[in-house]
Amino acid sequence: MRVFNFAAGPATLPLAVLEQAREEMLDWQSAGMSVMEVSHRSKAFVAVAEQAEADLRELMGIPSNYRVLFLQGGATGQFSAIPMNLAAQDSTALYLHTGAWSQKAIAEARRYTSVSVLADEKASNYSTVPAPTSYVIDSSAAYFHYTPNETIGGVEFDYIPAAGSVPLVADMSSTILSRPVDVTRFGLIYAGAQKNIGPSGLCVVIVRDDLIGRAREGTPAIFDYASMAKEKSMLNTPPTFGIYMAGLVFQWLKREGGLAVIGERNRDKAEALYRAIDESGYYRNPVAVNARSWMNVPFTVPDPALEKIFCAEALVAGLANLEGHRSVGGMRASIYNAMPMEGVRALIDFMADFQRRHG
Ligand SMILES: *Cc1c(COP(=O)(O)O)cnc(C)c1O
Repeated sequence: MRVFNFAAGPATLPLAVLEQAREEMLDWQSAGMSVMEVSHRSKAFVAVAEQAEADLRELMGIPSNYRVLFLQGGATGQFSAIPMNLAAQDSTALYLHTGAWSQKAIAEARRYTSVSVLADEKASNYSTVPAPTSYVIDSSAAYFHYTPNETIGGVEFDYIPAAGSVPLVADMSSTILSRPVDVTRFGLIYAGAQKNIGPSGLCVVIVRDDLIGRAREGTPAIFDYASMAKEKSMLNTPPTFGIYMAGLVFQWLKREGGLAVIGERNRDKAEALYRAIDESGYYRNPVAVNARSWMNVPFTVPDPALEKIFCAEALVAGLANLEGHRSVGGMRASIYNAMPMEGVRALIDFMADFQRRHG
């Protein structure tokens, strides 16, 4: 029996997509083999990759002066690929520090370039985002990096920073495709696939043309945007199954009505869950109201000794992976695109029942 899977990543996938993949598993497009077993250079597979790109472009409204790259090495690989491609050794890159993932991005960038941290939300224990007017952009900087959604802290920007002429770079791993976004505001968007796109092993990079071809000496070819763009992400064997699955997810998103519809659904899901937390007088979400994530909802109970019991009982009720990140404890419900409202409702009902019994 399938459970409602609230894992932060790898995360739940749309049932319709899994069923289609199962259906096609042994004999894909009458090839007599699975999609995993065909050549990435074959006409049939190249068509899959091209369709996936076209569907992503349509969903996000990606203009023609941006390349879409399907890379490996996860979002973490991009923590180093971004400075290698965009920052000369003697330049400065600007970062916002809003939680665990931006911290990792900063630490990695420091190995390649000088980093200036424009804002650090330490004072609020990373439960806030900096006000849009609280930092000044140095127009000579190589790029300006931020993390629109901090997956561990459940902290999400409610605005896109104004970076002026400096290329804005966003780690959208846990928020991509969750609602419409104006791609033209960004120089580069990247996202590990395992939250809102498909299985792990694939990282999507959307990069503006003028930022391609600047990689520093010594950048590995598989991380160099110019060589990967030139080879249409097939300089070497790409993660073919991941690209196929991402393509199925993109088609599912289109069938569901696109990002405007998905965005409303995600807002409704998040509002219902936060309301249940706030009105309970028992559960608590630590994040500033304007910075509450639509995708990752951390919450606590008054007695931390009950956390283990909460997660164990939830699992029996068919609600899996509600443990908070190992670094912060508590609970966390990740409610990405593929989590239906029905799953959120089931969680809310379970929370009320748990409170009655233990509160
Ligand atoms: C999951 C995640 C990452 C790391 O992704 P990997 O693919 O495991 O490298 C980076 N940034 C954010 C915001 C994430 O949610």
